[in-house]
Amino acid sequence: MDEDCQALRTFKDLKLNTWLTDQCKTMGLTAPTLVQLNCIPPILEGKDCIGCAKTGSGKTLAFALPILQKLSEDPYGIFALVLTPTRELAFQIADQFRVFGKPIGLKDCVIVGGMDMMIQGKELAQSPHIIISTPGRLADHLESCNTFSLKRIKFLVLDEADRLLEGHFNEQLKTIFEALPKKRQTLLFSATMTQTLEELRNIAMTNPYFWSAPAAVA
Ligand code: ADP
Ligand code: MG
Repeated sequence: MDEDCQALRTFKDLKLNTWLTDQCKTMGLTAPTLVQLNCIPPILEGKDCIGCAKTGSGKTLAFALPILQKLSEDPYGIFALVLTPTRELAFQIADQFRVFGKPIGLKDCVIVGGMDMMIQGKELAQSPHIIISTPGRLADHLESCNTFSLKRIKFLVLDEADRLLEGHFNEQLKTIFEALPKKRQTLLFSATMTQTLEELRNIAMTNPYFWSAPAAVA
Protein backbone atom coordinates (compact mmCIF):
# COMPACT_ATOMS: atom_id res chain seq x y z
CA MET A 1 0.00 0.00 0.00
CA ASP A 2 2.84 2.40 0.87
CA GLU A 3 4.15 2.81 -2.66
CA ASP A 4 0.63 3.72 -3.78
CA CYS A 5 0.32 6.61 -1.34
CA GLN A 6 1.40 10.09 -2.18
CA ALA A 7 2.70 11.53 1.04
CA LEU A 8 2.35 15.11 -0.16
CA ARG A 9 -1.37 14.86 -0.86
CA THR A 10 -3.97 14.48 1.83
CA PHE A 11 -7.64 13.55 1.85
CA LYS A 12 -8.37 17.25 2.52
CA ASP A 13 -6.75 18.17 -0.82
CA LEU A 14 -9.44 16.09 -2.52
CA LYS A 15 -12.16 18.50 -1.33
CA LEU A 16 -13.69 15.90 0.94
CA ASN A 17 -15.79 17.25 3.80
CA THR A 18 -14.28 17.37 7.26
CA TRP A 19 -16.53 14.62 8.61
CA LEU A 20 -15.04 12.29 5.98
CA THR A 21 -11.43 13.35 6.42
CA ASP A 22 -11.93 12.90 10.17
CA GLN A 23 -13.16 9.37 9.54
CA CYS A 24 -10.07 8.68 7.41
CA LYS A 25 -7.91 9.90 10.28
CA THR A 26 -9.80 7.81 12.81
CA MET A 27 -9.32 4.75 10.58
CA GLY A 28 -5.58 5.44 10.42
CA LEU A 29 -5.49 6.38 6.74
CA THR A 30 -2.88 9.09 6.35
CA ALA A 31 -2.89 9.69 2.60
CA PRO A 32 -5.05 8.73 -0.36
CA THR A 33 -3.83 5.98 -2.67
CA LEU A 34 -3.23 6.82 -6.33
CA VAL A 35 -6.60 5.58 -7.51
CA GLN A 36 -8.29 7.63 -4.78
CA LEU A 37 -6.18 10.68 -5.53
CA ASN A 38 -7.05 10.53 -9.21
CA CYS A 39 -10.67 9.40 -9.19
CA ILE A 40 -12.26 11.16 -6.19
CA PRO A 41 -12.06 14.75 -7.61
CA PRO A 42 -13.76 13.97 -10.96
CA ILE A 43 -16.45 11.92 -9.20
CA LEU A 44 -17.13 14.86 -6.84
CA GLU A 45 -17.39 17.09 -9.91
CA GLY A 46 -20.20 14.87 -11.20
CA LYS A 47 -18.29 13.00 -13.90
CA ASP A 48 -18.61 9.36 -14.91
CA CYS A 49 -15.36 7.62 -14.07
CA ILE A 50 -13.35 4.53 -14.94
CA GLY A 51 -10.57 3.58 -12.54
CA CYS A 52 -8.20 0.70 -13.23
CA ALA A 53 -5.78 -0.41 -10.53
CA LYS A 54 -4.61 -3.69 -9.13
CA THR A 55 -6.26 -5.53 -6.26
CA GLY A 56 -5.53 -3.96 -2.89
CA SER A 57 -5.03 -0.45 -4.25
CA GLY A 58 -8.00 1.08 -2.41
CA LYS A 59 -10.62 1.16 -5.16
CA THR A 60 -13.54 0.77 -2.71
CA LEU A 61 -12.91 4.10 -0.97
CA ALA A 62 -12.24 5.73 -4.35
CA PHE A 63 -15.97 5.42 -4.99
CA ALA A 64 -17.37 5.12 -1.43
CA LEU A 65 -15.98 8.44 -0.14
CA PRO A 66 -17.36 10.67 -2.91
CA ILE A 67 -20.70 8.82 -2.88
CA LEU A 68 -20.98 9.36 0.89
CA GLN A 69 -20.14 13.02 0.50
CA LYS A 70 -22.84 13.51 -2.15
CA LEU A 71 -25.32 11.51 -0.09
CA SER A 72 -24.68 13.71 2.94
CA GLU A 73 -25.52 16.78 0.83
CA ASP A 74 -28.69 15.40 -0.73
CA PRO A 75 -30.13 12.55 1.33
CA TYR A 76 -33.12 10.63 0.05
CA GLY A 77 -34.20 7.04 -0.66
CA ILE A 78 -32.11 4.70 -2.74
CA PHE A 79 -29.16 6.85 -3.72
CA ALA A 80 -26.54 4.42 -5.04
CA LEU A 81 -26.33 0.89 -6.38
CA VAL A 82 -23.03 -0.98 -6.17
CA LEU A 83 -22.76 -4.19 -8.19
CA THR A 84 -19.97 -6.63 -7.53
CA PRO A 85 -19.38 -10.22 -8.69
CA THR A 86 -19.22 -12.10 -5.37
CA ARG A 87 -20.97 -12.16 -2.00
CA GLU A 88 -17.68 -11.80 -0.16
CA LEU A 89 -16.87 -8.61 -2.03
CA ALA A 90 -20.39 -7.29 -1.38
CA PHE A 91 -19.94 -7.72 2.38
CA GLN A 92 -16.45 -6.19 2.30
CA ILE A 93 -17.74 -3.14 0.43
CA ALA A 94 -20.68 -2.82 2.83
CA ASP A 95 -18.24 -2.88 5.78
CA GLN A 96 -16.33 0.07 4.36
CA PHE A 97 -19.52 2.02 3.63
CA ARG A 98 -20.73 1.34 7.19
CA VAL A 99 -17.53 2.49 8.85
CA PHE A 100 -17.27 5.69 6.84
CA GLY A 101 -21.02 6.35 6.64
CA LYS A 102 -21.69 6.07 10.35
CA PRO A 103 -21.62 9.84 11.06
CA ILE A 104 -24.45 10.43 8.58
CA GLY A 105 -26.58 7.47 9.72
CA LEU A 106 -26.05 5.53 6.52
CA LYS A 107 -28.62 2.83 5.82
CA ASP A 108 -27.19 0.15 3.55
CA CYS A 109 -28.57 -3.11 2.30
CA VAL A 110 -26.61 -6.13 1.03
CA ILE A 111 -28.55 -8.17 -1.51
CA VAL A 112 -26.78 -11.42 -2.33
CA GLY A 113 -27.76 -15.01 -3.01
CA GLY A 114 -28.14 -17.62 -0.30
CA MET A 115 -30.21 -15.35 1.93
CA ASP A 116 -33.94 -15.04 2.51
CA MET A 117 -35.72 -13.25 -0.37
CA MET A 118 -38.61 -12.08 1.86
CA ILE A 119 -36.31 -10.46 4.41
CA GLN A 120 -34.34 -8.82 1.61
CA GLY A 121 -37.59 -7.60 0.04
CA LYS A 122 -38.54 -5.90 3.30
CA GLU A 123 -35.12 -4.26 3.59
CA LEU A 124 -35.38 -2.98 0.02
CA ALA A 125 -38.86 -1.58 0.74
CA GLN A 126 -37.38 0.55 3.52
CA SER A 127 -35.42 2.60 0.97
CA PRO A 128 -31.82 2.08 2.05
CA HIS A 129 -29.39 4.78 0.89
CA ILE A 130 -27.05 2.26 -0.72
CA ILE A 131 -27.67 -1.19 -2.15
CA ILE A 132 -24.64 -3.44 -2.53
CA SER A 133 -25.49 -6.46 -4.58
CA THR A 134 -24.47 -9.33 -6.78
CA PRO A 135 -26.33 -9.12 -10.12
CA GLY A 136 -28.22 -12.43 -9.88
CA ARG A 137 -30.09 -11.75 -6.67
CA LEU A 138 -30.92 -8.14 -7.50
CA ALA A 139 -32.30 -9.21 -10.88
CA ASP A 140 -34.44 -11.83 -9.05
CA HIS A 141 -35.92 -9.06 -6.90
CA LEU A 142 -36.57 -6.82 -9.88
CA GLU A 143 -38.31 -9.67 -11.70
CA SER A 144 -40.48 -10.75 -8.77
CA CYS A 145 -43.14 -8.49 -7.24
CA ASN A 146 -40.67 -5.85 -6.24
CA THR A 147 -41.40 -3.34 -3.53
CA PHE A 148 -38.73 -0.84 -4.47
CA SER A 149 -37.64 1.33 -7.37
CA LEU A 150 -34.19 2.10 -8.66
CA LYS A 151 -35.51 4.89 -10.89
CA ARG A 152 -34.06 7.69 -8.77
CA ILE A 153 -30.58 6.40 -8.05
CA LYS A 154 -27.80 8.93 -8.56
CA PHE A 155 -24.87 6.50 -8.73
CA LEU A 156 -24.28 3.14 -10.34
CA VAL A 157 -20.97 1.48 -9.44
CA LEU A 158 -19.65 -1.58 -11.25
CA ASP A 159 -16.95 -2.89 -8.94
CA GLU A 160 -14.57 -5.48 -10.41
CA ALA A 161 -16.18 -4.49 -13.69
CA ASP A 162 -13.91 -6.75 -15.75
CA ARG A 163 -15.31 -9.76 -13.90
CA LEU A 164 -18.90 -8.48 -13.95
CA LEU A 165 -18.80 -8.01 -17.69
CA GLU A 166 -17.08 -11.20 -18.77
CA GLY A 167 -20.41 -12.71 -19.91
CA HIS A 168 -21.73 -14.79 -17.05
CA PHE A 169 -23.96 -11.96 -15.71
CA ASN A 170 -25.19 -10.56 -19.03
CA GLU A 171 -28.91 -11.39 -18.63
CA GLN A 172 -29.07 -10.12 -15.07
CA LEU A 173 -27.20 -6.94 -15.92
CA LYS A 174 -29.66 -6.27 -18.73
CA THR A 175 -32.58 -6.57 -16.28
CA ILE A 176 -30.86 -4.24 -13.84
CA PHE A 177 -29.84 -1.65 -16.44
CA GLU A 178 -33.46 -1.46 -17.65
CA ALA A 179 -34.55 -0.52 -14.11
CA LEU A 180 -32.08 2.37 -13.81
CA PRO A 181 -32.53 6.01 -14.77
CA LYS A 182 -30.56 7.25 -17.78
CA LYS A 183 -29.48 10.31 -15.84
CA ARG A 184 -27.00 9.08 -13.25
CA GLN A 185 -23.29 8.90 -12.58
CA THR A 186 -21.73 5.62 -13.62
CA LEU A 187 -18.49 4.56 -11.95
CA LEU A 188 -16.54 1.59 -13.14
CA PHE A 189 -13.65 0.09 -11.18
CA SER A 190 -11.55 -2.76 -12.39
CA ALA A 191 -8.18 -4.45 -12.14
CA THR A 192 -7.86 -4.57 -15.93
CA MET A 193 -9.28 -2.69 -18.91
CA THR A 194 -10.94 -5.18 -21.24
CA GLN A 195 -12.67 -4.92 -24.62
CA THR A 196 -16.07 -5.31 -22.95
CA LEU A 197 -15.29 -2.45 -20.62
CA GLU A 198 -14.46 -0.31 -23.66
CA GLU A 199 -17.85 -1.22 -25.15
CA LEU A 200 -19.67 -0.39 -21.93
CA ARG A 201 -17.85 2.90 -21.76
CA ASN A 202 -19.35 3.77 -25.14
CA ILE A 203 -22.92 2.71 -24.46
CA ALA A 204 -23.49 3.38 -20.76
CA MET A 205 -21.23 6.27 -19.85
CA THR A 206 -21.04 9.93 -20.71
CA ASN A 207 -17.57 11.14 -21.60
CA PRO A 208 -16.03 9.36 -18.60
CA TYR A 209 -12.89 10.44 -16.85
CA PHE A 210 -10.45 7.56 -17.30
CA TRP A 211 -7.57 6.75 -14.99
CA SER A 212 -5.37 3.69 -15.04
CA ALA A 213 -2.51 2.85 -12.70
CA PRO A 214 0.76 2.41 -14.61
CA ALA A 215 0.88 -1.28 -13.57
CA ALA A 216 -2.63 -1.91 -14.92
CA VAL A 217 -1.71 -0.96 -18.49
CA ALA A 218 1.64 -2.77 -18.59
P1 ADP B 1 -9.22 -2.93 -4.11
O1 ADP B 1 -10.70 -2.77 -4.22
O2 ADP B 1 -8.47 -2.00 -4.99
O3 ADP B 1 -8.78 -4.35 -4.27
P2 ADP B 1 -9.70 -2.21 -1.35
O4 ADP B 1 -10.54 -1.02 -1.59
O5 ADP B 1 -10.40 -3.46 -0.93
O6 ADP B 1 -8.79 -2.53 -2.62
O7 ADP B 1 -8.59 -1.79 -0.27
C1 ADP B 1 -7.61 -2.69 0.17
C2 ADP B 1 -7.20 -2.33 1.60
O8 ADP B 1 -6.54 -1.07 1.64
C3 ADP B 1 -8.38 -2.23 2.56
O9 ADP B 1 -8.04 -2.88 3.75
C4 ADP B 1 -8.52 -0.73 2.80
O10 ADP B 1 -9.04 -0.44 4.07
C5 ADP B 1 -7.08 -0.26 2.66
N1 ADP B 1 -6.98 1.16 2.23
C6 ADP B 1 -7.81 1.80 1.38
N2 ADP B 1 -7.42 3.07 1.19
C7 ADP B 1 -6.31 3.25 1.95
C8 ADP B 1 -5.43 4.38 2.19
N3 ADP B 1 -5.63 5.54 1.61
N4 ADP B 1 -4.37 4.20 3.05
C9 ADP B 1 -4.18 2.99 3.64
N5 ADP B 1 -4.97 1.90 3.47
C10 ADP B 1 -6.02 2.02 2.62
MG1 MG C 1 -12.24 -3.98 -4.80
